[in-house]
Amino acid sequence: MDKSQILKEFSADPDKYYNVKLFQEQGFVRKACSKCGRFFWTLNADRTLCPDDGTDTYSFIGEPPTTKRFDYTQAWKQVEEFFVKNNHTSVSRYPVVCRWRDDLFFTIASVVDFQRVMGSKVVFEFPANPLVVPQTCLRFKDLENVGVTGRHFSSFCMIGQHSVPDLGGYWKDECVDLDFRLLTDQFGIKKEEVVFVEDVWSGGGSFGPSLEYFVRGLELGNAVFTEFQGELGQHSTLDQRVIDMGAGLERFAWITNGTPTAYDCCFGPINEKLFSTIGIDSDSEILKKYFTEIAKEIDNYDDLNKVRRLAIKNANITDDQLNKMIIPLEGVYLIADHLRTLIFAITDGALPSNVGGGYNLRMMLRRINGTINRLNLKLDMDDLIDTHIDYLKDTYPELDEKREDVKAILKIESSRYEESKIHMKKKAEKIREKGTPSVDELITLYESDGITPEYLKEVDAITEIPSQFYSKLSDLHQSEKKKTITALPLEDLPETETLFYKDDPMEFEAQVIKVFDDQVVLNRTSFYARGGGQEPDLGTIAGFKVVNVDKHANTIVHQLEGGVPAEGDTVLCKVDEIRRSNITKNHTSTHIINASSRKVLGSWIWQHSAFKDDDHARLDITHHSSLSDSEVKQIEDEANDMIKQNYPVNIDYYDRGTAEQKYGFRIYQGGVVPVKSVRIVSIEDKDIEACGGTHVKKTGDIELIKITKTKRIQDGVVRVEFVSGPTAFQYVKDQEVESKQKVQDDIAKQALEKLREENKNKAREQIPILLEKVLAGESGELDGITVKNKVCFTSSDSYDDYFHQNFGKKLTSKDDESAYCGIFETGPTIRVMVFSGVNSGVNAGEIAKEISTILGGSGGGDVKFAQGGGKDTSKKEQAIKKAKSMILG
Ligand SMILES: [Zn+2]
Ligand SMILES: [Zn+2]
Repeated sequence: MDKSQILKEFSADPDKYYNVKLFQEQGFVRKACSKCGRFFWTLNADRTLCPDDGTDTYSFIGEPPTTKRFDYTQAWKQVEEFFVKNNHTSVSRYPVVCRWRDDLFFTIASVVDFQRVMGSKVVFEFPANPLVVPQTCLRFKDLENVGVTGRHFSSFCMIGQHSVPDLGGYWKDECVDLDFRLLTDQFGIKKEEVVFVEDVWSGGGSFGPSLEYFVRGLELGNAVFTEFQGELGQHSTLDQRVIDMGAGLERFAWITNGTPTAYDCCFGPINEKLFSTIGIDSDSEILKKYFTEIAKEIDNYDDLNKVRRLAIKNANITDDQLNKMIIPLEGVYLIADHLRTLIFAITDGALPSNVGGGYNLRMMLRRINGTINRLNLKLDMDDLIDTHIDYLKDTYPELDEKREDVKAILKIESSRYEESKIHMKKKAEKIREKGTPSVDELITLYESDGITPEYLKEVDAITEIPSQFYSKLSDLHQSEKKKTITALPLEDLPETETLFYKDDPMEFEAQVIKVFDDQVVLNRTSFYARGGGQEPDLGTIAGFKVVNVDKHANTIVHQLEGGVPAEGDTVLCKVDEIRRSNITKNHTSTHIINASSRKVLGSWIWQHSAFKDDDHARLDITHHSSLSDSEVKQIEDEANDMIKQNYPVNIDYYDRGTAEQKYGFRIYQGGVVPVKSVRIVSIEDKDIEACGGTHVKKTGDIELIKITKTKRIQDGVVRVEFVSGPTAFQYVKDQEVESKQKVQDDIAKQALEKLREENKNKAREQIPILLEKVLAGESGELDGITVKNKVCFTSSDSYDDYFHQNFGKKLTSKDDESAYCGIFETGPTIRVMVFSGVNSGVNAGEIAKEISTILGGSGGGDVKFAQGGGKDTSKKEQAIKKAKSMILG
């Protein structure tokens, strides 16, 4: 929808859309900006320009409009105190990893916390009304601005103020009144300083007016009144109108402090630590001037590098100041910002990797490492993590619990970066020769080789990072998270009664509702349909074989083989009980392996995907490295201990919101649940998941779990293959037989080896005797050697290298009409050795060459002696035949 069109329409009727009670009570006047024409509301009748164009833009730097000073964590306490005092519930932040939406990797706004997907619709579920939440949001689009502009962050705290008017909350008048009083009463900003700008918001099929509020050109918040749905002109009022006020906590802290950048008052003591490392004073006049210039120009140009150059010029920054102050300072801010984001993301279970959302995290850590190297900083990462968490833990206690996990993950990732440097260095040299790469080429370099533009800048392969690089990269990795929807003409059919969630009879009667081709729909069924990684049940319906079962929305479709019953028939159905029992054991085992892996490996373990069939199952988990044998053993032991404890497996239904509040977002191991009533499968407090699969009643029913194989299948994902129940016992038995067989095989092999050695030793002793016989003119078969007029050939494996070497040499030196050819195996190679007396008429070199070619190798030598061979054992017979005919004629 065209936003400017909506704005035009709304601004044409300001009394209806924007004129709230506060404006009348306080005497706000409505003005049109003399520069851009936008409408705004102010108490200062002389004001002619909107906040974006105003002369007071960013004049709070060095001269804050408040008498009180609040840093980041203090600012939240002020906000929270104010809203709680005014009847709001303060809700803890939701995870930054957005497990409850399948179209987002990360939480990007506070309102996302309360959006749930139902089919194609987005609905709101608020745990309280009205409420306020300090929601950490991750956004990677402006990564190149972070550290440079003074106000862009890769993660920020959005103060979310939400109210549903029709369920006992408030609407526009009270919202704007609260926001105004938050600024003036709580933060002590003068009433005249606050300017409201008319705007609109639209997205996801709904839209509404909004009022952005500014102080000295800094947008502090935006109160959106989501009110309508449909196309402008044909729109209707939403069933559930919602207030979505989002404000940047970082900016609240900034405006009260008036520091050169928002970073100076939002990262806590970590800044001082970093500043002392690079030895600069961040509060100098020159920096205030420089960052005010940046702030003024940033909205005028798309190209950040240009903005930067302008600010350098306008603030009279010398080259020396640029290199000694600005550049190190930008680096320090970047490190503080990116590290804070990584701490939140890893705490909430995300891992840096090359796929999905993990991608942005890896990029950020590489930017940190690249900056540390470029500026030659001596920093202790663990110490920086501690400093951040110590500062933030009062507002976000969960960070404190995951402190060690965050350190472990970042350590592994950083060392990977160091390892890849040699490869990156080679690539960088090539780039330097070729000239500046394009944005697309830079993206390819990062995607296929992990080379960041920061690294290229660090080694001087490029001079500056093109703007657009990060936004383009982020676009590529934002929308990968997708789902597929299958369509079948089943709309008019009633919902199938799912007996597997009830008594679950393995034999039942049902009525045939619909038949298409070989597909049958029943009114009720115990056949579990493929879903959640669990394979379908098999069995018979009316005597016909069931070969597949799928679920389409609420209808279960059985695919039969050999025929189908008629519509309307009442049929007898039998589920393959043993198969179902095995699959069920494997499914509960998946939950157990998930819990054991998390316990053994760390809190970052999540189910990535799972598959459960009757004779095997696998669980893919999110983990940074391959598993060691000892880790596999520990996970298996842990799993079997859970079986031994014989914990009950409980299944309960909850309202989705209640389940989330009670158990947190860990329940979404298998992904988003698009229904209001959530089926929670819990094994004590060890594992609690929202799951629609079939499960055993007690963990002891599984009897045994054996992990059969593990493999790192992609960056950040490890596959654990396992068997359980009877299959596990069979596996153990097979393993025993196999290892017994292997022991026997080894013994037999050793015996054979020994026999060969003995034969060879015997053969060596035979040399003089055989020589004598051949030289005496004996022909025919002599101990596996074919002799014809002193020309000999053998391919018997009784003879080794030593024999051929000595016998051939001695024979041909004693008689110049003799010749010798031996073919023998040694290791994986078949070798050939040829000796010929001067008057034998045999060309040793030719034979060796020809035979080697047949064997897929090469040979060399001269007329008198040559050797060679090859590895193609399938050609051995052919080689023997050829050699025999060549030498014996
Ligand atoms: Zn304007
Ligand atoms: Zn499950």
